[in-house]
Amino acid sequence: MIVEFMSAMIGHFEMTDLGLMSYFLGIEVTQTDDAIFVSQKKYIGDMLKKFKMEGCKPMLIPVEERLKLEKEGFDMVKDKEIIIEYCHSEEQEEHPSALDSFEDMIAVAEGKKLVLFLDYDGTLSPIVNDPEKAFMSDAMRVAVREVANLFPTAIISGRCIDKVNGFVKLNNVVYAGSHGMDIWTPTGSLKYGQQNKSIDEQGNKVVKFQPAQEFLPTVKEIIQVMEKKIKTFEGAMVEDNRFCVSVHYRNVDEKEVDTLKEMVHSTMKAFPKFCINGGKMVMEIRPSINWNKGRALEYLLDTFGFTGSSDFLPLYIGDDTTDEDAFEV
Ligand SMILES: [Mg+2]
Repeated sequence: MIVEFMSAMIGHFEMTDLGLMSYFLGIEVTQTDDAIFVSQKKYIGDMLKKFKMEGCKPMLIPVEERLKLEKEGFDMVKDKEIIIEYCHSEEQEEHPSALDSFEDMIAVAEGKKLVLFLDYDGTLSPIVNDPEKAFMSDAMRVAVREVANLFPTAIISGRCIDKVNGFVKLNNVVYAGSHGMDIWTPTGSLKYGQQNKSIDEQGNKVVKFQPAQEFLPTVKEIIQVMEKKIKTFEGAMVEDNRFCVSVHYRNVDEKEVDTLKEMVHSTMKAFPKFCINGGKMVMEIRPSINWNKGRALEYLLDTFGFTGSSDFLPLYIGDDTTDEDAFEV
């Protein structure tokens, strides 16, 4: 019927058959044997081009749930991770995927001893709404165990060391909790002070290095104060990470988040020896000492016996802003 109609129209008017419709009034049409799709691919492409985002990473769910990006007060440094992860192609070019250079890494590692450092949350485990349930999968545990059998491996997390240990449950890796402020190694280091010999839960001899030991009473005080103050914020959670404190706001109503942040900042004015760092829907409160995941990595390399050696290649895998300190090292 359509063919008949078309030839009748061509007979009366000056017309050309352009075949299947692919573009009409700015809307693209893709036709297959079983379906007709209407799309705005070109329009979106033009938009991306206009904002210089042609090479941006496509994502099915482009931002984290409840994440709020604001035009006012947008903090380029604080929100950099969000930009890197979700939006801008230039940042992605600056931070390309390591997997794209896997062969180059193998070439660099040739003849060298690999030393592996891993973050926990978001790296070995998924980021979940309840931080107490950030479990790693059995497959991941097997992978880490196998890697740790081949190379010295350490897990450096912001969480308290007991919690990371409880999540990972491997005895062939070394653990560092509290953003590297609580390190337990079999041997310790001769270069550093503040080390105490101890026995871990499995009965193994360990040397504990805790450079923020003197802050412990104040951390406990901060936790007490924060726990009282967050009660008015439904969904907010204070996590005791022994030498640091996390205030999680992932489950807080987004209208309340700014007020919560203000509360944390104003409360911490009474504790000038502490600083606050941002993370993924979390505020990290830490003692302001010259110690971080990067320094922890140096300490661990020393305890692994790599100081003064050049035939090793440290690999650090992490996903959050506090990991940047280790990347720098
Ligand atoms: Mg992480």
